[in-house]
Amino acid sequence: MRTEDVFLFVKRFLIFILASIVFIVILSLPLARGGNKLPQDKLNNITYNMKHDNVVVINEIKVKVYRDKTNKIEEMNLEDYIKGVVASEMPAEFHIEALKAQTVAARTYAVTHIKSLGGSGCSKDKNADICDTVHCQAFMSKNDRMAAWPKDKSNYYWSKIEEAVNLTKGQVLKYNGEVIKGAYYFAISSGKTENVKDVFSAALPYLKSVESPGEEVAPKYKSTSAYSYSKLASIINEYFDKSIVSPSNLKTNIKIKSKTEAGGVKEIQIGSKTLKGSQFRSMLGLNSTHFSINFGKKDIQIVCTGYGHGVGMSQWGANIYAKGGKSYNQILTHYYQGVKIEQIN
Ligand SMILES: [Zn+2]
Repeated sequence: MRTEDVFLFVKRFLIFILASIVFIVILSLPLARGGNKLPQDKLNNITYNMKHDNVVVINEIKVKVYRDKTNKIEEMNLEDYIKGVVASEMPAEFHIEALKAQTVAARTYAVTHIKSLGGSGCSKDKNADICDTVHCQAFMSKNDRMAAWPKDKSNYYWSKIEEAVNLTKGQVLKYNGEVIKGAYYFAISSGKTENVKDVFSAALPYLKSVESPGEEVAPKYKSTSAYSYSKLASIINEYFDKSIVSPSNLKTNIKIKSKTEAGGVKEIQIGSKTLKGSQFRSMLGLNSTHFSINFGKKDIQIVCTGYGHGVGMSQWGANIYAKGGKSYNQILTHYYQGVKIEQIN
């Protein structure tokens, strides 16, 4: 063997040895870390911790609910409270995506009332966060709600409510990173929702008039209230605490002055006074501010379209969108323009 050949042989041998070592080291690395198991375990652990942290934070939030019938305050977990609200505020036979949308709106509304989270509380009781009537939002305990449903459906209905709440656990509506103050919702629209400033006092960027089609199918979509001339005159005079109309001059003294973008009554003239449509609605207990007045021979008929104040999410509208394939996220961002669905914290 020539010297050059010996060098070449040694060189090739060393390269082979080196390559083998590199090869073995590369192969053995995953084994040294326990194969693919460890990274997956780590991943699971992180996911678990995130979920776990989340659960702890959400479950720590308590709400003091003023019970109207007993005049007592009951403290409960926020998520349990939300189940009792969704079960009372929306028919359980509604589509699951509509129930999820209702859950997020109800939770958002609750959070803005919980005093330990900087909320406003309820004016009915200074120690309470929220009450169980439509003054804040309706709430029933699980037992009461189950008893009010048909017996053969109550378990199915409650499990649907629980599913909607669990699938949206801790989620609220935020605008520019802040929980929104006006998570209003109502039963039935007249085809469009109301701009908040036409119904309540302040304007809010996420509460503008939006389309809400297809609600004619709702049972209370149209309603008629009839009053004798003397009855309506006496209600009005009682409201103003002085005689401003009489049965004989009612027809010429009531005039709709202006309407909202959604077609509701914005202002109504009664004698020399001007009322907001919402004030006229509460004076007579009408279903909505979307009304017309017919002066008949014997009585006065007020025909309303829709049910509720008309601001924010329409519950029937949400169900119609859900049945048409929209997700709760799409429903909520339609009724509350520009908001994001995020965790409370
Ligand atoms: Zn209240």
